[in-house]
Amino acid sequence: MAKNAGKSPNSPEKCDVFIVGLGFAGLSAAIYSARYNFRTIAAGEIFGGLIIDTHLVENYPGFTAISGLELMEHFKEHVKFYENIEVVEEKVESIEKKWKKFFAVLKDGRTFESKAVIIATGTKRRLLNVPGEKELSNKGVSYCATCDAFLFKNKEVVVVGSGDSAAKEALLLSEHAKKVTVLVRKDKLKAEPINLSRVEKKKDKIKVKFNAEIAEIIGKGKVEAIKLKDGSTMKVDGVFIEIGHLPQTELAQKLGCALDEHGEIKVDRYARTNVPGVFAAGDCVDTHWKQGIVSAAEGAHAANSAYNFVSNEDIEPK
Ligand SMILES: Cc1cc2nc3c(=O)[nH]c(=O)nc-3n(C[C@H](O)[C@H](O)[C@H](O)COP(=O)(O)OP(=O)(O)OC[C@H]3O[C@@H](n4cnc5c(N)ncnc54)[C@H](O)[C@@H]3O)c2cc1C
Repeated sequence: MAKNAGKSPNSPEKCDVFIVGLGFAGLSAAIYSARYNFRTIAAGEIFGGLIIDTHLVENYPGFTAISGLELMEHFKEHVKFYENIEVVEEKVESIEKKWKKFFAVLKDGRTFESKAVIIATGTKRRLLNVPGEKELSNKGVSYCATCDAFLFKNKEVVVVGSGDSAAKEALLLSEHAKKVTVLVRKDKLKAEPINLSRVEKKKDKIKVKFNAEIAEIIGKGKVEAIKLKDGSTMKVDGVFIEIGHLPQTELAQKLGCALDEHGEIKVDRYARTNVPGVFAAGDCVDTHWKQGIVSAAEGAHAANSAYNFVSNEDIEPK
């Protein structure tokens, strides 16, 4: 469908479903929405979302091993196939509900009117919030091994984090750096067993230090050392921070969506929020397991529920 279809001067562009987010959840929702013959707007700041910074994805069905960026290129091709999807790479500033319609305003000034909204806004990185982190960001402090690992050839780095993402970052860094130390806050590295054994196999290069927390990142113009909370210091060239993510829910909150105690959007098993016509999917919602395939499935569910809402028709198989 032509860009700006349904638009008259000074009025918002009309669509059936307005989706915020261009990650697994938003793009999957767009594909399903298009197949219901809905004029679908999928708006997002970063095409592909969080996964594009990941060097290796080995658990998305259909791909034994693929980079996050390449995987999202496949999503792009798939979305392009549908003429009734318009992808808009732009920040969504606000969404308001007026009577039964939704009005979205984008940073570039474009406005859209829709009958339903799908929020798939994912997460933003959690910061360590220690002295030196902000000052030395991009000067040795990094949040993305895929982007920066090559800068640390034969250097010593630490990865801060206790989850699978931290293990994966350490594995990638070990291909470049001389020594990688994973600083785990408690006494367990909670990685996928397959990644845990890979870390163990690389113990000549990757050390795991338990009960270790950074108190300060030290350096003049670049990272030179870190100070731990036990008072010890370590000489390092790089600090990679992978301590989880915080849900991005500002738009949902302004629409009146309820959040849980973790600040995630509450949804039922049909991806419905408490606000009629607003659906949510992916890492920003209150499902425990944050993975690409989970987000994609939730996006599909949200589109199905949006279809039911807009057409007031139940198309689920009986
Ligand atoms: C280091 C690391 C490695 C990982 N490895 C894997 C893996 O191997 N396999 C796997 O399945 N998962 C992996 N994950 C998890 C996976 O990346 C996430 O589960 C997935 O990206 C979530 O998808 P999403 O669509 O919910 O959100 P996201 O991918 O976060 O996308 C959110 C989208 O919303 C947009 N957005 C947010 N707010 C606005 C706004 N106001 N206006 C416009 N756009 C907005 C963003 O620009 C983005 O397009 C990994 C995560 C990390 C951190």
